Amino acid sequence: MSDHYICLIPAEPDFIPGEESQAAAVALIQKTWNLEKSEITPETDTHIVFRDCGENFESVHCPHCSAEMEIGHWQALMDQSYSDENGFTISTIQTPCCSKSTTLNDLCYKWPMGFSRFVLRTVDPGYEISDYLLIELESAIGSELRVIHQMY
Ligand SMILES: [Zn+2]
Repeated sequence: MSDHYICLIPAEPDFIPGEESQAAAVALIQKTWNLEKSEITPETDTHIVFRDCGENFESVHCPHCSAEMEIGHWQALMDQSYSDENGFTISTIQTPCCSKSTTLNDLCYKWPMGFSRFVLRTVDPGYEISDYLLIELESAIGSELRVIHQMY
């Protein structure tokens, strides 16, 4: 039996919603998905953390030309952008395929992954997050959100 979680992260890696916004988002998920409060965890890290999708990981693609990025190249970029002291630094990188500017956070990940200080993690309720709920959550949090399906 594997573990499934849904992670919601702000579009901007540095963004941290206020306490009340976090509580409103938790209440919304709790009510909509009929979860226990203990199954929904808002977390804020001191540094920017990589939010992976676990076993759902398939590939990384260029956001400009969609070319698949070699995993070794991506890992090297990840290493360059990380330090134990400061976590991840999201800076401009050049794509190897078409030499255009992007960031690690803007690469197209299959399945979606991303970088953030804040994350709202819930157990997977077993169905897709509706567009309506996502809009409500984005309005509660005060930021556009990225949905990450984690499977371990
Ligand atoms: Zn490209």
